[in-house]
Amino acid sequence: MTTSADDPRIAHALDVILQLTSGNLNARATTGDRADEVDGIITGINMLAEELQNLFVSLSTARADLEVRVRERIEELSQANEYLRHELEHSARAEAALQQANAELQRRAGELEQRNYEMGALTELGDMLQVCATAAEAYQVINQAARRLFPGDSGGLFIFSASRNLAEAMSVWGDAPPEERVFEPEACWGLRRGQAHLELDGGASLLCHHVRSRNDLHAYLCLPMTAQNETLGVLHLLVSALNRAEDVEHQLEAKRRLAVGMAETCALALANLRLRDTLRALSIRDSLTGLFNRRYMEETLAREMARAVRRHTPLSLIMLDLDHFKLFNDTFGHEAGDAVLKDLGRFLQSEIRKEDVACRYGGEEFTLILPGAPLETALKRAENLRARAEGLRVQYMGQMLGALTLSLGIATYPEHGETKEGLIQAADDALYRAKNEGRNRVVVSARGQ
Ligand code: GH3
Ligand code: MG
Ligand code: MG
Repeated sequence: MTTSADDPRIAHALDVILQLTSGNLNARATTGDRADEVDGIITGINMLAEELQNLFVSLSTARADLEVRVRERIEELSQANEYLRHELEHSARAEAALQQANAELQRRAGELEQRNYEMGALTELGDMLQVCATAAEAYQVINQAARRLFPGDSGGLFIFSASRNLAEAMSVWGDAPPEERVFEPEACWGLRRGQAHLELDGGASLLCHHVRSRNDLHAYLCLPMTAQNETLGVLHLLVSALNRAEDVEHQLEAKRRLAVGMAETCALALANLRLRDTLRALSIRDSLTGLFNRRYMEETLAREMARAVRRHTPLSLIMLDLDHFKLFNDTFGHEAGDAVLKDLGRFLQSEIRKEDVACRYGGEEFTLILPGAPLETALKRAENLRARAEGLRVQYMGQMLGALTLSLGIATYPEHGETKEGLIQAADDALYRAKNEGRNRVVVSARGQ
């Protein structure tokens, strides 16, 4: 490849330029043809300038080209850099998200475990309540469960009285149990609203009237216990045990959830117990008079007889029947007759002692079982009943009904019979004799005489 320096004119021009710059040109100019030399030099310089111009142009082009490429590279690099930065950021975010998801997963697992435990505990409570025979047993089971499910907290199980105008504490637990043991339903926001009521014991909060503010109390819960469309009472929880280092609201929510589950379980079990009691009462009580029925009387008599035989104690049976009741019905009507039977039921119930058993044996016939009563006692009681019944006046629909009398037969163990059947038969015979001898009288069994 030839460069511009290979051209002899440029070489010459360069030479002259070198000499000029070193001061030798003047010396040489004086020795040759000056004009020619200068022309040659100018031509050389022009060519050199042109060459330099060309070189400059190509250099500028190359530079521009280079600049474009450098810019391109820089652009590529900054893009790569941006991508990398983005990737790094992304992976940092992904890492943080992963950590968060992990923490959330752990929290959920903990919660799931807690719920699992609660479900197990509530199922166990339900199972235990299922096998309770009485309400008292159920209250005890609920007490134990509350202590286990809410360690460190206190509370009480309040049940409505039969008249439903008071909620009474049937069971309380914890170190600081409820102070009010009886309250009216209106005193409780939970009962009034018919839903779980959670209240913080703070200055601004509106406490139920049955709750007193205390230093150790953080919050309390009132959970109405409703089952089969009936509110049976309220489960009351006083929250003292909270971990201040952890989310308090979360803890309260967990307690509320568990208490709601517990209240539901208890309500269902208590309603079932009540239903069982009602059914049992229906099966052993006479619906008109409220006295025990014949079946119950026979079972009880068998039991009491066995006990009397074992203990060598007496037992008396009084069988009584309204005199001329048919006539009464015919005169005043069947409903008036029913009113008399009801009144007689109440009367008999009020005349006997707690350990005695009054039953409607059938129709207008009644029996009284008097465990431990010897003949003389039974005789006195029967005579007393007869005399007092004479004075009974029944009012029906504003009308005073005619006086009624009773005939009574008595049989006592062991004198008149040593078995249930024997004693019933002996009392029945005595009653039959009382009727035959003119009614409104007491006759003692003649058996064994
Ligand atoms: P006695 O003095 O011999 O016992 O005569 P009595 O009329 O009481 O006896 P009787 O056995 O002839 O009639 C019994 C009556 O009792 C007949 C029946 O109408 C009535 N009675 C039985 N059960 C009921 C009841 O649940 N309600 C009403 N109103 N009457 C009843
Ligand atoms: Mg009769
Ligand atoms: Mg009769």
